Amino acid sequence: MPTYKIAIVGAGPAGYFTAQAFQKAQNEELTFSIDMIERLPTPWGLVRSGVAPDHPKIKTVSKVFEKIAKERGFRLFANIELGKDVSLKDLRDQYDAVVLATGASVGRKLGIAGEELKNSLSAAEFVPWYNAHPNYVDVEVDMSAQTAVVIGAGNVAMDVARILAIDPTELDPTDVADHALVKLKQSNIRTVIICGRRGPEHAAFTAPELRDLPKLENTDVFIDSNQIQAAIERIDGLEEIEKDLKNNIEAMKAIADQAKKGLARKLEIKFLSTPIEIKGKDKVEEVVFKKNKVENGKVIPTDETFSIKAGLVISAIGYESTSCSGVNIESGRVKNIAGHVEHNVYAVGWAKRGPTGVIGTNKSDSSDVVDLIIGNLKEPKDSEGITSLLKSGHEVIDQTAWEKINASEVISGEIAGKPRVKEVDWKRLISLGRS
Ligand SMILES: Cc1cc2nc3c(=O)[nH]c(=O)nc-3n(C[C@H](O)[C@H](O)[C@H](O)COP(=O)(O)OP(=O)(O)OC[C@H]3O[C@@H](n4cnc5c(N)ncnc54)[C@H](O)[C@@H]3O)c2cc1C
Repeated sequence: MPTYKIAIVGAGPAGYFTAQAFQKAQNEELTFSIDMIERLPTPWGLVRSGVAPDHPKIKTVSKVFEKIAKERGFRLFANIELGKDVSLKDLRDQYDAVVLATGASVGRKLGIAGEELKNSLSAAEFVPWYNAHPNYVDVEVDMSAQTAVVIGAGNVAMDVARILAIDPTELDPTDVADHALVKLKQSNIRTVIICGRRGPEHAAFTAPELRDLPKLENTDVFIDSNQIQAAIERIDGLEEIEKDLKNNIEAMKAIADQAKKGLARKLEIKFLSTPIEIKGKDKVEEVVFKKNKVENGKVIPTDETFSIKAGLVISAIGYESTSCSGVNIESGRVKNIAGHVEHNVYAVGWAKRGPTGVIGTNKSDSSDVVDLIIGNLKEPKDSEGITSLLKSGHEVIDQTAWEKINASEVISGEIAGKPRVKEVDWKRLISLGRS
């Protein structure tokens, strides 16, 4: 019975769903041994370092990941970075197939003057900062101003804005990073304005997330009802209205129409506004926008500008993959055709598609790529796999070590009344795994 050796690089949702698809494809004539390689000492990718702390239900998908990790033939090799500790060429030689599930972790740039000013951050820095990613503990976030601007009209922009706009005590029972909670409690920010370039009908928010906004207890949420009415009129002219769009517009209308409570904390969503400059002497002081309009379904700039005085700007306009170990990047993702990269190398998840879709989108996508891989398999290789590639003494976090880290974080959480208290120090994570 042939056993094929598969290396999956990246322990995020796409990596786990790829492992699961291989596990499901096994039969009496075909088995797989799966080595999952992860650069951090902890797995779960953006489920740990991206998903908002006040959305704990979403994170329960990690239970599925842990079940996949318990299956026979699965091994975790965390604290190993492709491009630093191992090369793609070495993996290619040792494994029958290498699957890049490395995500997209670099924030897209606005490309406008003033973007480099202090306190102009990307969601790709701000989110892992509040989610206790060990590489982002030292991100400087100055929340001394009254107003923050978040640029982008998708769920990441909404997460960022919500975290800044809610009463920080609402984050007490969550797994938000301790260092972030302390700073959020000292924050002077009371008004957060999300600005999207296009109209309400083009926004990438999803309806469940929009529907949650009016439920915020300590924050009034505003959308200009004229902007929603204009969008309704525009889409009324369409032959067919997609269900998602209808739901989104309904959810936005509910926000616009909701009676406000007169709270000090405000979150506003503005549409048809393109940032053209960030101004400030030493740090962000003001953001200048051009107003846009929609004509014949197209978003076009007007001559009108306006500006918002704000001390913090966070751009959430998408993510790009970075190249590692000679992997070619095209349009912000790993260059691939339907998941095939080159030779026996494949890509899945955000590395393959770019930063689109929810966690579940990665499941069907990984399954399609696994079908392609299985169809391309040749004679199984007689090789040792990753263990032959690592320098002696390299500290590997395997599944047992990760379970120790996990248990320790959960126990600390139980004492503190949280789902977990995340350890943020790389060395301490490793020593927890060794304990
Ligand atoms: C801020 C934010 C909030 C989100 N919230 C939600 C939500 O509420 N609900 C929802 O359904 N979806 C949400 N998503 C989307 C969801 O997180 C993604 O669909 C999913 O994480 C993509 O999975 P992935 O495995 O491709 O990438 P990732 O989750 O990014 O995993 C990639 C993994 O690869 C590792 N890696 C990278 N480079 C290397 C290397 N060189 N060597 C070894 N390992 C490497 C990384 O450390 C990481 O663990 C959110 C996304 C973001 C950014």
